[in-house]
Amino acid sequence: MENTPENSTKKVALHTLGCRLNFSETGSLAQGFTKRGYEVVEFGEKADVVFINTCTVTDSADSTCRNLIRKAHKSSPEGKIVVAGCYAQMEPETIANMQGVDLVLGTSEKYKVFDYLNEEEVSAIHVDKSTDFYGAATTTSDSHTRAFLKIQDGCNYVCSFCIIPFARGRSKAISIKDAIANAEELIAGGFKEIVLTGVNIGEYETSSGEKLTDMVRSLLDIEGLERLRLSSVEPNTITDELLEVLKSSSKFKDHFHIPLQSGDDTILTNMRRKYSVADYKKIINKIITAFPNAGIGADIICGFPGETQEQFESTYNLLKELPITHFHVFPYSKRKGTTASKMDNHIHNATKKERVNSVIHLGDSKLALFAEDQVGTTNEVLFERRSKKNGYFTGYTSNYVRVYIDTEEDLKNQTRKVYLKEYKDGKLFAELIQ
Ligand code: SF4
Repeated sequence: MENTPENSTKKVALHTLGCRLNFSETGSLAQGFTKRGYEVVEFGEKADVVFINTCTVTDSADSTCRNLIRKAHKSSPEGKIVVAGCYAQMEPETIANMQGVDLVLGTSEKYKVFDYLNEEEVSAIHVDKSTDFYGAATTTSDSHTRAFLKIQDGCNYVCSFCIIPFARGRSKAISIKDAIANAEELIAGGFKEIVLTGVNIGEYETSSGEKLTDMVRSLLDIEGLERLRLSSVEPNTITDELLEVLKSSSKFKDHFHIPLQSGDDTILTNMRRKYSVADYKKIINKIITAFPNAGIGADIICGFPGETQEQFESTYNLLKELPITHFHVFPYSKRKGTTASKMDNHIHNATKKERVNSVIHLGDSKLALFAEDQVGTTNEVLFERRSKKNGYFTGYTSNYVRVYIDTEEDLKNQTRKVYLKEYKDGKLFAELIQ
């Protein structure tokens, strides 16, 4: 066959599991592949390189990853299969022994994928615990409106259930100067909204002692940035100064994600979390005082070892009482090597499932109530795309409620003022007022 530019273009398929940070990293790598002349194709299509960015937060994440590797080998039997990230860091041999896998890269080595792919013999495990900061500004690929800017990686905490510090190492931070340069590049590329991401961004600290508040202050000053959000922030790291800086700018959007994990003090102590239920309540109250209409998300783990029905109910009741609107609920998952995995009284899967389901149910009804409460108010929405299902244009309000608008206009990547007019069938409908 003639070697036309079309058939000589190499193809890469990427797949991400896990957290926003992983998604931002895959986005960055996708840009790297594109710059090197690769065409990015859907995962499952035949490709020359299949890159899987893995997660190891739960055992189901591990098994999903193994299934994806099998799927990748089936769709691209001759392609190079690269498995990277947290699961690769923790279980490199298991992955390397799977059929079709060419390259296993740990959490810091994943950025060197291009060098490894250039090597003549691609077949190796590269896993190291690095203290350097890797990664850059980037985005998820589905909408070109919101970018995730990675400012921190790793974690110095030792939450007893968590494998992340083993997988991603100690906390490391990007400099404010580099973050500004990355943010400016994103804005020049058309992004209107930046979400600061990391494993534990509340612990962001540069070698010269600059903290998250300094980072946020500098980013809010960038001309052209319309919206700034924070991803998950540990409750003990939210300071009055940070809230003041956030409040000082209309660019910051009133949406927070503050992990709770449990509403019982004994469980929080056993989890080695750095706050009590009273501390958590105080932080949420401070947020709501500063941002009365804030959307607030929380992570919750159900069925931590030894969690009694009463302790679970304390969590449930706390979630019911607090103005938490977006729930992220997980069953406790035993991770080899963690302190919690060696604790007594592991909870039966059926009980965990029951508890998870009841908290999910509560979360759904609280989000619906929150969305309903927005009816009759105005808000600013950054529009992302037209929904394939119903043809409505859709985007998020400042406080992170998805809205739908019936319009012929192409609103992609526009920030528009809307009137929130109706909540129906689980959807918040709006009309443009500007
Ligand atoms: S703060 Fe705790 S849960 Fe979060 S990454 Fe660090 S150790 Fe894990």
